[in-house]
Amino acid sequence: MIADNLNALRRKIERACERADRDRRLVRIVAAAKTQERAIVEEVVRADVPIIGHNYVQEAIKERPSTECGHFEYHMIGHLQRNKSRKAAETFDVIQTLDNLATAEALDHAASELGKRLGVMIQINLSGEPQKSGIPEADAACLIRSVQSLKNINILGLMTMPPFYDDPDAARPFFHRLREFRDNYIANGILVGSAIELSMGMTGDFEVAIEEGSTLVRIGTALFGPRY
Ligand SMILES: *Cc1c(COP(=O)(O)O)cnc(C)c1O
Repeated sequence: MIADNLNALRRKIERACERADRDRRLVRIVAAAKTQERAIVEEVVRADVPIIGHNYVQEAIKERPSTECGHFEYHMIGHLQRNKSRKAAETFDVIQTLDNLATAEALDHAASELGKRLGVMIQINLSGEPQKSGIPEADAACLIRSVQSLKNINILGLMTMPPFYDDPDAARPFFHRLREFRDNYIANGILVGSAIELSMGMTGDFEVAIEEGSTLVRIGTALFGPRY
């Protein structure tokens, strides 16, 4: 079942790349593995999905796929509480959801102690919904500058979660805006040139997100089936 889902997903990604005249290799799948059994996630790793994402540090520690299944990056895609920074720095390669300086400093400190360089992405709240995490867009450039000065964490790009819509096209303006932010930040030297990743798009809207420039699509349902 995973193989069929993955084939269908990869075909849709290819078609979206063709529509947008984009290089397929610049769009990577992040398997959103929350609540999935390790055996299933390991099947996904064996099928060469390059990134496994988890929402919770404890679940990620407990359910980490065996390295014998193949190479994968391990990403935090849920909100990170500052007091979990040390465990998160130990567990993950990349924190996609960084949205405040205090947590950035805690991650930097932990990464330094671990002798590791941790990737981060800045999560921006473009909708202004108060229940959503992410830094407000007006404060994002300032946060990026501060994080850039930290030595042990490395900004790879931006992440966002638009509001949920039944019609994926309704999310398009948010995806478009995140890409504009990235391009402006790079043009203005706020982001350095290698920080090009855009983590945006989920099962319901990844094709639109790819058309708007997504480089990391976070996919749960289309890969694993519905969560109960
Ligand atoms: C669960 C989750 C996803 C994937 O959601 P689907 O709609 O099942 O593809 C993506 N991003 C985050 C942050 C999630 O928590």
